[in-house]
Amino acid sequence: MKPETKKDIRSLSLEDLRLFFTQNHDQAFRGNQVYQWLWQKGIHNFEGMTNLSKSTRSLLETHFVINHIDIDQLQKSNDGTIKNAVKLHDNLVVESVLIPTETRTTACVSSQVGCSLDCKFCATAKIKRMRNLNADEIYDQVVAMHQQSILYFDRPLSNIVFMGMGEPLMNYKNLINAIDKITQSDGLGMSPTRITVSTSGIPKMIMKMADDQVRFGLAVSLHSARQELREQLMPFAEKFPLNDLAESIKYWYKKTAKAVTYEYVVWKGINDGDEDINALVDFCKISTCKVNLIEYNPIGDDQFLQANKDRIGAYESALESERIIVTVRRSRGKDIDAACGQLANKAERE
Ligand code: SAH
Repeated sequence: MKPETKKDIRSLSLEDLRLFFTQNHDQAFRGNQVYQWLWQKGIHNFEGMTNLSKSTRSLLETHFVINHIDIDQLQKSNDGTIKNAVKLHDNLVVESVLIPTETRTTACVSSQVGCSLDCKFCATAKIKRMRNLNADEIYDQVVAMHQQSILYFDRPLSNIVFMGMGEPLMNYKNLINAIDKITQSDGLGMSPTRITVSTSGIPKMIMKMADDQVRFGLAVSLHSARQELREQLMPFAEKFPLNDLAESIKYWYKKTAKAVTYEYVVWKGINDGDEDINALVDFCKISTCKVNLIEYNPIGDDQFLQANKDRIGAYESALESERIIVTVRRSRGKDIDAACGQLANKAERE
């Protein structure tokens, strides 16, 4: 078979692999062995599958390829953050970011090449969505950053956030497939409670996640609890109005009993007024939740400016007086364009 007509072996499920071996007059458990090499040991070639015979390895070689990502460029921030330019098998590039703190190392993972949403303040939105990442491409980013975490910080990866490029809930099947491999005991065996999926807010998909009883956390990028303003900031919100979003969050909470985290940037003169604060406080009453007030990371557009400290303080005290947990999150990796909303393959394009 020509290499380009061969199937990527990682698109096969465990059942598919077992079936492949029985159809080729071998035993089904070989499928489990291969599955472990691919998803637990993260191997990228057939020669390395040392518990398989030579003839089995060449059988695999004849039928399949293993497409894998390459770290094309690695940039280190002076705060320790590492940004990877990740080259895919078709030469497209996404970025992923490893963020160390005193107690954690968090991997920020991409789910799409570019993004189809149109948030006015986000650099990724300026790159049109080229394609969804496959489950293995999502998984490989995690493995690569897990290895970096051990190499540079002498400890395993502790947390994963789907806050890189793209909208994870618009690539739901591959996202779930990748998370399965990250969490299964014959995969990386990470606890789902250490994983957070961040969405711009797609009500139908939030309800689907609730129905699927997912065990990871949910973050919603809210930025405004006033429909009219939210539409200006995130025009797609016209199709996904706040009322529907609120209903889906209620449903999520009812089904999963998990608090939602709201990501929220406060901009000067845009959403820093008292009416904005009151609207957020009201919205937060829908279900148990936390609010992350995120620092704005400039993307070379001067219509957006970070709000003054006193306005951020006003948000904090209004939320706290309603007993809503609020944190103010400082950006990491800003000097290398690795912070939230700055991922735009800049280094690759230069
Ligand atoms: N599409 C998903 C995943 C991307 S996460 C989502 O929107 O949640 C990226 C996070 O960074 C989101 O909370 C997003 O709203 C935020 N963000 C985007 N641009 C930003 C910027 N310039 N400064 C700070 N945060 C930004």
